[in-house]
Order: sequence, then structure tokens, then C-alpha cells
Amino acid sequence: MKIAVVTGANRGIGFEVCRQLARERFTVILTARDAAKGKRATEKLHEENFSVEFHQLDVTDESGIRLLSHFIEEKFGKLDVLVNNAAIIGSRKSVSDADMSEITEVMQTNYFGPLRVTQALIPLLKKSDDARVINVSTGMGVWSDLNGTYAGYRLSKVGLNSLTAMFANDLLHSKIKVNSVCPGWVRTDMGGENAQRSVEQGADTITWLATQKNIPTGKFFRNRKEISFF
Ligand code: NAP
Repeated sequence: MKIAVVTGANRGIGFEVCRQLARERFTVILTARDAAKGKRATEKLHEENFSVEFHQLDVTDESGIRLLSHFIEEKFGKLDVLVNNAAIIGSRKSVSDADMSEITEVMQTNYFGPLRVTQALIPLLKKSDDARVINVSTGMGVWSDLNGTYAGYRLSKVGLNSLTAMFANDLLHSKIKVNSVCPGWVRTDMGGENAQRSVEQGADTITWLATQKNIPTGKFFRNRKEISFF
């Protein structure tokens, strides 16, 4: 049995990743910071007969991350896939005038969150024969696209891509592969209704990386193809 955890999965791309992984016969642990929203999302997937469990997780809450890790250890003894999906976008303010409090909040969620969650779950990922960490990033974190707007968000996603490279190198001799994905511009609360892509399309490359037999590590993907971090 393959076990996957998805963060920020009560709506948007994370929710659809849960559905797609469950369709691929994963047992999915759908996590959300708001328990009521997370349970409702899980019930929707139960109605579609998928094997999904809910566990509360705010990625900024260290003790909650420890509880999740204990839960997985006791119930499953290992973890095969971690999707670091939870994020906030913050305001459009530029790096010259964005409030430090806002930048800090975005960094806590989008950068320190995945760092904490990945660190905590590495011991369980090491118990898998073929584990993957998938960091949901964005083209807005690509080096050559770094204009000054959305300061906190861009900084956090450049940081997330650095985590992909550093964890991949650190875990090079393990069975854990670590990669970033850009889902494209997707119709969610974050992407807005004018976005070009459906959630199904946005989730596709994430599911593909979770299920492909042989994948590289330390890379960045969009539309199932490698793209440059720079
Ligand atoms: P979304 O619809 O805004 O959903 C974001 C999810 O993250 C929600 O479930 C939200 O929970 C959760 N979240 C926020 N802070 C959290 C925290 N501290 N702990 C746990 N969960 C938290 O966004 P989306 O469009 O699905 O985005 C998913 C991922 O794709 C993000 O990493 C985003 O940066 C990336 N992305 C999206 C687009 C796009 O066009 N949509 C483009 C490029 C990259 P609540 O419901 O409780 O707020």
C-alpha cells in the first residue's frame, strides 16, 4: 500500500491531487489547517469511494507537524509521497514597500512550512522503497522572472526551489527523490477565475511525478517536462 500526504488539501490544487492520487490507488492523508473544511473535503472523496483519511495540519505549527508524523508512524509505519502544496500568495506589494510582517507570514507558510514538514517526515520517507517529495512551486519563482512584485510570494518560492535542490543533494544516496512543480496558472481561489487551466490540469504533473517509475531528483517540472530554475 502506497501512502501519500498532501498539505493544504481542503480546496484547489491540493484537493485535486488527493483525488488523482487516490484514483492511482494511494491511501491519501488529506491535511488542512481547518479541521471542519478538511473533514468536508475528505467526505467528498469518500462519496467517490476513494481511500482518504483526514489529519489536521497547519504547516506553520511545529507541534501539529509532530502529531502528524506520530499518526503516520503508528498507522502506516512509512510514507511514500509528500506533496508540499499549502501556500498563501500575500499582496502584490513590491519588494521595496511590502510590510515585513506580511513577508514573514508568507515565508512562514510557503518556505519554512515545507522545510519543517519535510524535515519531520524524512524518517518515514526513508522507510519507503521509492519515496518522493513534491514541492508545489511556480513560474513566479523562476530566477529570470523575478520582477519586484508579490515580494513575499516570489521570495518564498525561490526559497522553496532552493529547498528542492538542497534536500535532493542531501538525500542523493537515499531512495527519496525531491522535485519542484509549476502547476501553471490554475482556476482556484488563488489563481482566480480567469486562469487558463483547470485544477485537473494543474494537479496532473504533481500526480505524474508521484506515480512515474523512474524520475530524476533535484529538478523542476511543468507539463510533465523539465524546466529551468533560472
Ligand atoms: P488555494 O486555492 O488558495 O489553496 C491553498 C490551500 O493552502 C488552502 O487549502 C489553504 O487552506 C491552504 N493553506 C494556506 N495556509 C496554510 C497553512 N498555514 N497550513 C495548511 N494549509 C494552508 O491555492 P491553489 O491555487 O490550490 O495553490 C496550491 C499550490 O499551487 C500553492 O503552492 C500555490 O503557490 C501553487 N500555484 C498555484 C497557481 C495557481 O494559478 N493557482 C500557480 C502557480 C503555483 P485554507 O482553506 O484554510 O485557507
